Amino acid sequence: MVAVKRVLDYTARVRVKSDKTGVDLTNVKMSMNPFCEIAVEEAIRVREAKGTDEVVAVSIGPRQAADTLRTALAMGADRALHVHTDAEVQPLAVAKLLAAVARQEQPQLVLLGKQAIDDDSNQTGQMLAGLLGWPQATFASRLELDAAAGTALVTREVDGGLETLRVTLPAVVTSDLRLNEPRYATLPNIMKAKKKLLAATSPEELGVDVAPRLQTLSVEEPAKRKGGVMVASAAELVDKLRNEAKVI
Ligand code: AMP
Repeated sequence: MVAVKRVLDYTARVRVKSDKTGVDLTNVKMSMNPFCEIAVEEAIRVREAKGTDEVVAVSIGPRQAADTLRTALAMGADRALHVHTDAEVQPLAVAKLLAAVARQEQPQLVLLGKQAIDDDSNQTGQMLAGLLGWPQATFASRLELDAAAGTALVTREVDGGLETLRVTLPAVVTSDLRLNEPRYATLPNIMKAKKKLLAATSPEELGVDVAPRLQTLSVEEPAKRKGGVMVASAAELVDKLRNEAKVI
């Protein structure tokens, strides 16, 4: 099972709403969260290596989240489940919904992105593992599944090096940037994806309360960058750092 989120495209210019309640999403390009693309790619590779027979993509969100699921299907996922809601869903609510889906689907592995690039929460995978009581391996840069042994070997990028964990399946793994390079959906696969099953459900059907637990007080744009200055020598640079910027 792989969780995919529809987010503001990483190339889009982010505009904060004038009332500072959030990011303005009107008429901006939306795409699959890049870390979710990596998670989908990894799930497909697991199936191609015969580690599983089926990849199920799940997305939670408004009607357009179905487009993101079609992309996952075009990349190679076998079927999809759209948890339809127009409500704001925070990471805890997403984790509860994914936990409810996981209890129904009973996957051996749930793959997620390490974070969604819109809110940068980096919470969902961790909370999902907690709710299910499953092992977790976050920030994976390498995954080797041993389905017969019921384990996975996961290499994680940690400060100053790599850590390798063996987790017992079923487990939750979140993808880091270097796990793989996601494939592009080819035109024939985009056509084929239209025939794949995309089922729909809702938080009510899954019996999950998605009420927000966090309140966003204010969203602000970073301060505009001031122009830089050229210095003539290293001595002048040191002088400015010491006496103007007062950072050394
Ligand atoms: P976050 O904790 O919000 O940074 O998100 C981490 C990961 O959780 C994402 O890369 C997705 O795999 C998953 N996720 C978060 N929100 C959603 C959503 N609305 N639908 C599906 N998956 C989600």
